[in-house]
Amino acid sequence: MKPGTRSFLFSCLSSAVPFVCPICGARSFDDSPGMFCASCLESLPFISPPYCPGCGGPMDGILDVCPKCLNQPPRPWNGAFALFDMTGDVREAIHLLKYRDRPDFARSFGRLLGNKLRRELPCPVDMIVPVPLHWTRFLQRGYNQAALVCQGVSLELGVPIVRALKRCKPTPHQARLSRNERISNLTGAFSTTRSTNCQKRAILVVDDVLTTGATLSAAASVLLDAGASKVFAASVARR
Ligand SMILES: [Zn+2]
Ligand SMILES: [Zn+2]
Repeated sequence: MKPGTRSFLFSCLSSAVPFVCPICGARSFDDSPGMFCASCLESLPFISPPYCPGCGGPMDGILDVCPKCLNQPPRPWNGAFALFDMTGDVREAIHLLKYRDRPDFARSFGRLLGNKLRRELPCPVDMIVPVPLHWTRFLQRGYNQAALVCQGVSLELGVPIVRALKRCKPTPHQARLSRNERISNLTGAFSTTRSTNCQKRAILVVDDVLTTGATLSAAASVLLDAGASKVFAASVARR
């Protein structure tokens, strides 16, 4: 077989196998990175530049950060990226992937997020680190949605996933807490795993949703304390 023939055959075969769009369930042959059908992809609420350096969300006006970040403490990271505003289909999809056993959404969103990061990260990263769940929450849900998002991101960036963080204590659902409660809730929540060397590494830390940024901030701070040279934060959606 001539060189190139195999990849040509493979691309013909893979484009002949339909995939099911994770949002509308339509079967499609399109070759989009997230495996969303063309019409769902077009309707998704992608955040367009300029981006807020605090959260990766949309900027408006003349301030240095978005209005939602104005009242937040300074971020520990070197840059933040978010794919969507948490509205409409995205809100519904995130709810399904968190609470209704639809982990397939997470990988699809991860591919789209990775595609954006490939174009927009200011420097290469050495590892992709998911925000971990406490093992009790993991057993409840059966999967860590942030780790599944990382699988899609890793495919697009060609960078390995490293489980560099562990969650040391179970924390109540952040969604029900005030900002101050979120911060104290997360004090001491993460530590690095013993086997991971973060020294002088550029790290991308990933979660499904950024609300106040308290969770990603706590995770990023632990990685920086462990010697990371740079930390970037990425989330599928900015609430
Ligand atoms: Zn669709
Ligand atoms: Zn912001």
